[in-house]
Amino acid sequence: MKIRDLPPHTVREHPRAKRVILRVKCGVVQVTVPRGFPRQRVGAILEAHHAWLQRHLDETNTPQVEVPERVALPALGREFPVVCCPAKRPYVQAVGDHLRLGVSDAPRQECLLLCRWLQNLAQSVLPGWCAQTARRSGLSDYARVQVRRQKTRWGSFSMKKTISLNCKLLFFPPEVVEYVMVHELAHSRHKGHGSAFQALVRSLVPHCSSSEAILRVPGQWVPQWVEVE
Ligand SMILES: [Zn+2]
Repeated sequence: MKIRDLPPHTVREHPRAKRVILRVKCGVVQVTVPRGFPRQRVGAILEAHHAWLQRHLDETNTPQVEVPERVALPALGREFPVVCCPAKRPYVQAVGDHLRLGVSDAPRQECLLLCRWLQNLAQSVLPGWCAQTARRSGLSDYARVQVRRQKTRWGSFSMKKTISLNCKLLFFPPEVVEYVMVHELAHSRHKGHGSAFQALVRSLVPHCSSSEAILRVPGQWVPQWVEVE
């Protein structure tokens, strides 16, 4: 399942906004929308202004990475406050319910360490979760689950029946994660995305369209620090 090719963006509601306003700051598009504006329309608006946005994004060189104050993972219903301590070399350590991050004025390195922690956490959780989903949906014909931090995909199903899941899925609500799992598991029966595939996924996931809408505007859920390279 592919991630749509949208620029990095954040969406914010403003009670006095009369229309959608786009701004580019530090390599990120800030989208301000009127109260109650349907978020699933943001993707189409960004696509419509693609050329303009690209010009401005190119001008404001590389995005600034900032270490987050907390890592909230709706998929797991957990939130980890990040406590920064000065250190010679960056490190990350899970201590109780928070993350201790040794910082040395190298935010990119520090974010990369957080990404590695996230990927390990996802690797410890997603394969078991996927096995449950597989049993429930009667689609257990896969070999194994691997977790990566892909740039352009939420998940994939390989010729060798390996399911790859993106660790960034942990930033979404649990039903979205399950939707992606069912999508990949359904590829064990149907290779492409034809009508038989769609019918199978829809029969197994009643909340399909709301999950699809959420995945169309990932920037609203997935924080910028996790996109660091
Ligand atoms: Zn697919």
